[in-house]
Amino acid sequence: MIHYKTADDIQKIKESAQMLGQAHGEVAKLIKPGIKTETLDKVADEYIRDHGGSPSFKNYNGFPAALCISVNETVVHGFPGKYELKETDIISVDCGVFYQGFHSDSAYTYPLEGVSQDVLDLLERTYHSLDLGIEQAKAGNRVGDISFAIQQYVEQFGYGVVRELVGHGVGMNLHEDPEIPNYGKRGKGVKLTPGMVFAIEPMINMGTKNVVQERDGWTIRTADRKPSAHFEHTVAVLENGTEVLTTHKYIEENYSYKWRNKSR
Ligand code: MG
Ligand code: MG
Repeated sequence: MIHYKTADDIQKIKESAQMLGQAHGEVAKLIKPGIKTETLDKVADEYIRDHGGSPSFKNYNGFPAALCISVNETVVHGFPGKYELKETDIISVDCGVFYQGFHSDSAYTYPLEGVSQDVLDLLERTYHSLDLGIEQAKAGNRVGDISFAIQQYVEQFGYGVVRELVGHGVGMNLHEDPEIPNYGKRGKGVKLTPGMVFAIEPMINMGTKNVVQERDGWTIRTADRKPSAHFEHTVAVLENGTEVLTTHKYIEENYSYKWRNKSR
């Protein structure tokens, strides 16, 4: 069942998303070789709680942390821990905030400065596919238009589109209907209607689309251990267009490695 949001609900999600964006910005300041991923989690968790929110992921179905931290071949749902970042890593930071009764959800994959050009290309193109998906997220279109736009763009580079994990409605619950797959057919699926709020989150692999789950019951990695990229925004479908409720602005202001020019 899809929960349609009022203008007031959307405003609250936007406020949740502002806090989320700033929590991401605090994390961005610290991303460099040698930092432990558990330190990033602690900073985000404290920032959110200090500002009156709560981290959406913590204790969600037993997930132990405020951030999902997924390095290199990890696609999503990695645990923060003792691992120290290396110069050649990419790191996906996924975070959610619950504030005033509503969740927001966004993710960003950072390259460290020693990352090769082919991995930078994977990140830039995955980011671009998120933008292409957002362009399709307008009233009258269907979910499949978003899915198709993402899949068609990234597959031309030989990348794999993860099937097992998808975007989702966002609201009073972290995961609501409808599902927003990153693969699909134009013109198919649920019709997009004003008041829908959902996360679009391409998870794109350098190699095979196939993934496996680690024994911890959470961590998802690529089957061939090639790197994977993940970018996510929560968006609202309005009468006249689309509003991106989450922001990567604070990430791109605060991260020392200016690997791309555009920001949203
Ligand atoms: Mg997320
Ligand atoms: Mg999500």
